Amino acid sequence: MNKTPKKRIFIKSYGCQMNVYDSNRIKNLFEPKGYSETGDLTKADLIVLNTCHIREKAVEKVYSDIGRIKKIKKNKHKLVIAGCVAQAEGKEIKKRASSVDYIVGPQSYHKLPSMIENNNSFINNDFLQNEKFKKLLFKSSNTVSEFVSIQEGCDKFCSFCVVPYTRGSEFSRPINEIKEEIKKYIDNGIKEVVLLGQNVNAYYDDSQSGKHADLAYLINKISEFDNIERIRYMTSHPNDMTNSLIEAHGKNFKLMPFLHLPIQSGSDKILKKMNRKHNVKKYYKIIDKLKSWRPDIALSSDFIVGFPEETNEDFDQTMKFVNNVNFAIAYSFMFSSRPGTPASKFKKVDLSIKKARLSALQSLLKEQQKNYNKSFVNSALETLFDRKGRHKDQYIGRSIYNQSVFVNSVSNLIGKKLNVKIVRSTDFALEGEL
Ligand code: SF4
Repeated sequence: MNKTPKKRIFIKSYGCQMNVYDSNRIKNLFEPKGYSETGDLTKADLIVLNTCHIREKAVEKVYSDIGRIKKIKKNKHKLVIAGCVAQAEGKEIKKRASSVDYIVGPQSYHKLPSMIENNNSFINNDFLQNEKFKKLLFKSSNTVSEFVSIQEGCDKFCSFCVVPYTRGSEFSRPINEIKEEIKKYIDNGIKEVVLLGQNVNAYYDDSQSGKHADLAYLINKISEFDNIERIRYMTSHPNDMTNSLIEAHGKNFKLMPFLHLPIQSGSDKILKKMNRKHNVKKYYKIIDKLKSWRPDIALSSDFIVGFPEETNEDFDQTMKFVNNVNFAIAYSFMFSSRPGTPASKFKKVDLSIKKARLSALQSLLKEQQKNYNKSFVNSALETLFDRKGRHKDQYIGRSIYNQSVFVNSVSNLIGKKLNVKIVRSTDFALEGEL
């Protein structure tokens, strides 16, 4: 009998959840070809680096990983560079790294198996979103929570961002296709879906005869699945926070009371230079409306400090804004200039100033997160458990507000949704008792 030889694939994902999703799809594409995943790259026949282009450091990391792999790479190994660095710097990678065998962008990775089989194309960075999703396979190895990509690309062109160039223009998948994918995950036991998109709330589907199918409509359709108990979405843009989506937070109790809504700066002058197309007042208005529908909603955001021409006064406005909003969690980064973006040509802020501002902002955000977590001590919090902890009998789950909750239990809690009494909080997590 002709047996397919067993081969191994090693995949490393850099950056965002969308890349994690894409890496899972790449793995699924190679499974019918006899590949199984390995965590040991020396044992892999196929090594895939699924890269991120959002910050300069992330790109340098890819080149240093390529260098490390070159030292152990033998003839049988095939090295693939996928993701946004492949899209933006395909030709440059080919020039700089002769050990790379294939280069494939985020909208054409479904072609990778045939590229390898036919050995006929080394760089593929076409924008083939529509074709891609029709060719992908969706097999979950998770049993509790799963990412689902519903939208890709961006038309906003913030002056610092590479996404519109690497992921292409905004593209939304039809509702029926998304529901079919979720059904497959439900068969595996999934109870929670996290809807992903670079601009997830720009989602629309115009194939729904006469209905305005936006993200709120999609969320309501997904909640009709009895087995899906929780829905989250990320990442949103303030300009696409429609009234229907805000209302869904009050009306649909499967939609979790957590929103990651990047603002990037608390200064209108800087927001304008960033080409964000919204101001601080608009952001406050959105929060007010959200809180009128869901008073307990947990808010999260992203900040860039030291954006070109950011003065002390602009930075003070960001600090004031953070103090006013009081975030449950937020992420902050120093401005990182990306080649080809308008902001790469703006006048830069000194590194020492950027560092000092980042440190001040991060201390404030850390304090807010710590206090937020502390406010749950001695109360009960609904938690969905999705994994084992590092210690014996330890389980980790997510609260409805997206915090990590640790408990001890002799019985298996994975997949269980339980009310947990919070007994202790740390800066980044909660400890509870059943
Ligand atoms: S909205 Fe987000 S993805 Fe789009 S350009 Fe701005 S930062 Fe990048």
